[in-house]
Amino acid sequence: MRFESFLADALRLHTRSDLPLSCIPEIALFARRLKPALRLVVATTELPTWCEVGRMHNVPFAATTVISVPRGPGWSDILLAGDIPPSNAIALGMVVFANDQSSADTIIHGEVSGSSENTGMLLGYPKCCLSAFAATTEAGITWAWNLIGHSGSGPFPWWANRLAAGWGGIAPAGEYYPCSLRCAETSQIGRKAFDSLRFFGLNRLANQMHLHASSAVDVFSDGRIQKASASIAMQGAIRAEFTS
Ligand SMILES: [Zn+2]
Repeated sequence: MRFESFLADALRLHTRSDLPLSCIPEIALFARRLKPALRLVVATTELPTWCEVGRMHNVPFAATTVISVPRGPGWSDILLAGDIPPSNAIALGMVVFANDQSSADTIIHGEVSGSSENTGMLLGYPKCCLSAFAATTEAGITWAWNLIGHSGSGPFPWWANRLAAGWGGIAPAGEYYPCSLRCAETSQIGRKAFDSLRFFGLNRLANQMHLHASSAVDVFSDGRIQKASASIAMQGAIRAEFTS
C-alpha cells in the first residue's frame, strides 16, 4: 500500500468531487494509518475514479451504489433493499478503503443491509460514541440540538467540534456523531487529524480546520446549524462555544 501517494490523489479527487470538507481529516488519518478504514459517499459518476485510486495505490477497497434520502441539515438516510424510495431520493456512490479487503467488504455490506453495529468499530469510531448512536438516530435532524443539550456547559474542546461540519466547515474528527461535545476520544481523534495534516505538510488546511472548529456555532430546534455571526445566539437558537 502506498498511503502517501494515496493521500495526494484522494485530496485531488476530493476537490473535484465536491465532498464535504470534513472528509479531509478522515482521509489524512487513514493515510497516516491512524484510522483503520475510510468511507466516502460520492457522486455515482465519480465512483469509478475513486475505485481507480484504490487500485493504483494497492489500497483494499469495496464500492457500491446506495439510495440516499436527505432529511435535513447534515442528516440523510440510506435506503435498504426493499424500501420504496421517496421522490427526493438520490443515487450516490459509496466507497470504503481499508487496511484489509475483508473489513472493506464488511463495512459496505453493513451499510447496505442495515446491520451496521460492527461497521462503526471497523471505521475506528469510539465505543462511547457508537453506544450513543441510537439516541442520535432517534433525534434525526435535531441531532445537533440534542448533542448540545447533553454536553453540559461550554466552551467545549475545539478538537471535538462536530458541529463545524453542519455549516460546511471542517470538523476535526470527521463526520461521525460523537456522544458529547466533550467526548475525550473524539478530542483525541481530532488532535491526531490536526497532527496528520501537519505531518503531510498541509499546514494551511490544518490552520483552516483550527479556525473553523474554534468558531462558535448556533443551532436551531428545527435542525439548522450556523456559524455564529453575532456576539449572542440568534433568536430561537442555542449556542455552542469552543476553546481556541
Ligand atoms: Zn464518545
